[in-house]
Amino acid sequence: MDWHTPVRFVPGIGPILATKLEKLEIFIAGDLLTHIPFRYEDYSVISKIANLQAGETVTVIGQFTTLKNAYTKRGFNLQKAVITDETGSLDVTWFNQPFLVKTFNSHAGLVALVGKVDMNGFKLVLPSPQYEIVKPNTPLIHSGRIVPIYPETAGITSKWLRTRIFSLLETSITHEYLPTTLINTLGFISFPDALSTIHFPKSLNQVEAARRRLAFDELFIRQFEALMKRREWNKHILTKPLQINEQRLQKLIASLPFTLTPAQEKVIDHIIADLKSNKPMNRLLQGDVGSGKTVVAAIAMYITYLNQGKSLIMAPTEILAEQHYQTLNEFLTPSGIKVGIQTGSKKDIKPSSPPLKLRGGRVGLFDVLVGTHALLEKKVKLDDVKLVVIDEQHRFGVKQRSILREKGESPHVLTMTATPIPRTVALTLYGDLDLSVIDQMPKGRKTIKTWVVSQIKRAAAYGWIRTQVKNTSQQAFIVCPFIEPSESISTVKAATHEFNHLRADVFPDLRLALLHGKLTYRQKQTVLTDFRHGKYDILVCTPVVEVGIDIPQATIMLVEAAERFGLAQLHQLRGRVGRSDTQSYCLLFTSENTSQALGRLKHLETAATGAELAELDFKIRGPGQIYGLAQHGRDQLKIATFGDLQLIELARIEAQKLFAADSTLSQLPLLKERVRSGKIGEIVPD
Ligand code: ADP
Ligand code: MG
Repeated sequence: MDWHTPVRFVPGIGPILATKLEKLEIFIAGDLLTHIPFRYEDYSVISKIANLQAGETVTVIGQFTTLKNAYTKRGFNLQKAVITDETGSLDVTWFNQPFLVKTFNSHAGLVALVGKVDMNGFKLVLPSPQYEIVKPNTPLIHSGRIVPIYPETAGITSKWLRTRIFSLLETSITHEYLPTTLINTLGFISFPDALSTIHFPKSLNQVEAARRRLAFDELFIRQFEALMKRREWNKHILTKPLQINEQRLQKLIASLPFTLTPAQEKVIDHIIADLKSNKPMNRLLQGDVGSGKTVVAAIAMYITYLNQGKSLIMAPTEILAEQHYQTLNEFLTPSGIKVGIQTGSKKDIKPSSPPLKLRGGRVGLFDVLVGTHALLEKKVKLDDVKLVVIDEQHRFGVKQRSILREKGESPHVLTMTATPIPRTVALTLYGDLDLSVIDQMPKGRKTIKTWVVSQIKRAAAYGWIRTQVKNTSQQAFIVCPFIEPSESISTVKAATHEFNHLRADVFPDLRLALLHGKLTYRQKQTVLTDFRHGKYDILVCTPVVEVGIDIPQATIMLVEAAERFGLAQLHQLRGRVGRSDTQSYCLLFTSENTSQALGRLKHLETAATGAELAELDFKIRGPGQIYGLAQHGRDQLKIATFGDLQLIELARIEAQKLFAADSTLSQLPLLKERVRSGKIGEIVPD
């Protein structure tokens, strides 16, 4: 057995439990060891029965001298027992656990009980204790120590996890694998110590040092893998680097309906340098919502086109794909570029289904093809693809990225994200990518005026919205409460309910439409097109509503139950408005009027950038919340947090040093076993 052994082969697990463990993101033996407790219970006081006092939480070790089932007057089933050690006896009770009598009657030896001692009349009693059979020469796992409590799932309890992890800790997969000099210089504890301490600490003071060591390892390995991927990527040498036709490029830029911002020009320079070189581009383009990433991508596509290459652009949803299709048509069609779109809702992506619809010509006739994941799942043959653009990268997995790359012959890859990842974090998590940031908004953009609206002002706010949108070209979004992370039936119901209420009771004189994820693609498309063309004044939608929607005349964003969102998420929603030089507004309604919730939201009234808000979110709600709904899978850190900026930086520097000295890890076979192969096609899917 090693770190990467699938959990179903770990002794005592098997396929059924392995499936359950997947829900906890536990796939391999190593995942089980790094499934770290979220808290501990201190059961380390082992007390003689004669010394017990009411109110103490203790471990008692003894033998059952009585153990029987009984019934209360009301017919409830009760277990009554007496446990005895050399100093005395103690009454023990359980409710409704008749199997305990069977279990312990066939066991004459010692048992350890854990619980809080109580007083029953003048007698001490231990109600509903946890129990563990004491085996000779075997340490206690669930009692008589500080005991870990883990994230659990159906069929997987902390007790079960403890037992499995305890025995895994005794195997060789916990051996130290980093160079001793490195560990000593950095002042870390050893890997085996860190693992045994994080799961079974002797004292709670030791936990932080263990966590730090394991967090370092996670970041270090992540960074090392990224460096390997980068090297692998750089092995592809392009026979025909792209040529840059300055004159035609300038002509296209001059034809745009606006002037590029200096920040856009800067990142375009980065991209041009990549495209000219003989190595495929692999760049992450980060820019706040509305900073104008699409046009940057369009320029890269234009250069590709001038080199007889095709471009693919993938959006996370069909609606966004449709929007890109329209935008790119607007930017590129005048220059003679054929833009196509290929969509097909999820249900269509079955082998037996008809081919995906393609507009703008047959496959092979386009210069730019816009699509969603569907581009990957269908065996679309895409020759001559020289550029792949991925919008909102955090929604795509590594696997999908690698398939895309395979569709072209080492195409250039540009990944775009609005997630405000701190630079240090980006360099570590996406260390295989080069980073460019658009750190400036287009000129003339007014700061979106944001108000947290209290319950009593709700009616007034509705009245104000009416005056803004009625008989004007301005429009409003009303975002319904966030209920569950995915677009569930209940979310749709809530939105439908809100829509009917607003239409009948609040805005009977206005034109309202409803948009939610359970509509078909066509329905969504119709609603959005009509909204874009001004057929509606207000669009009521669910929170998962397409993050990149670009409707410049929409100037009001109203968010219901805003306290349920992270600040950065609210900022993303707010970014749906303020896309022209008309003053835009964001109204945050709350369903909870606690001063804490209001205080947090008030930050949106003053802070304008995603980065500022991500930082505040981080301070107020902790790092796990920054990335909100979208974060999942392998992009997530298990042990380290994005707040560990210094540790992140340290891991990056150390990984780079080691990579420079021994990039194949020939001297460190144990570490080599830990890092996943740097081969692009072999990356474990998300
Ligand atoms: P995002 O970075 O969020 O994807 P978009 O690319 O959708 O942003 O751009 C937001 C809006 O700003 C679009 O309507 C786009 O046409 C416009 N835009 C982009 N760049 C500029 C610019 N330099 N000046 C003015 N408007 C711009
Ligand atoms: Mg966008």
